[in-house]
Amino acid sequence: MLVVALTGGIGSGKTTACQLFKKLGTPIIDADEIARLLVQPGQPALNEIVKQFGQSILTAEGTLNRAKLRQIIFSDVDNKTWLESILHPRIRQEMARRINELNAPYCIVAIPLLVETNQMEIADRILVIDAPETEQLKRVTLRDNQSQAEIAEIISSQATPTARLAVADDIIHNDGDLERLQQQVESHHQKYLSLGKTV
Ligand code: ADP
Repeated sequence: MLVVALTGGIGSGKTTACQLFKKLGTPIIDADEIARLLVQPGQPALNEIVKQFGQSILTAEGTLNRAKLRQIIFSDVDNKTWLESILHPRIRQEMARRINELNAPYCIVAIPLLVETNQMEIADRILVIDAPETEQLKRVTLRDNQSQAEIAEIISSQATPTARLAVADDIIHNDGDLERLQQQVESHHQKYLSLGKTV
């Protein structure tokens, strides 16, 4: 089976593209979803996080206080490195397990921070969703309750378009309307189906 890693910056259209691939019957493995599952109450990773940062990292309901964790890792790079050492191997292991369970010509593994976390080797091909920064800002402002400045800060903390495009085997240019996105998803789908037959 051909494994295609899909990546892109915030608001580039990754989720939308994945939904379109899914509608065409493509199995999608979502790294963010796995990351969320791994820190649910009772999971070993959450227990380790509590051991490291204390009970105050939990909400009153016993779930992970994400805002607090974000603050802790943004303020100290060692904390960020530690957290990644706890989460990344587990995310990789779970992605590999899910890939092995599939029986399809190809699958898509959505990894927003593929380049930042240097996980390119997980896939046979890398598909980058590329959108102009002005579109990213416009779309995320509409989608989320965040200011342009906050979104701009997230964009600047992520890999540059140049770094992403440097590792891309395939590119979807999400600079038009949804119909244009759909057309590109369909043509990539056809290409991956035929490439999948030879893998
Ligand atoms: P990501 O998952 O990369 O952060 P999304 O797929 O959530 O991005 O897209 C960000 C927002 O922009 C969503 O609200 C989505 O519906 C919208 N969007 C994505 N692509 C387009 C497009 N080509 N035209 C109009 N809106 C779009």
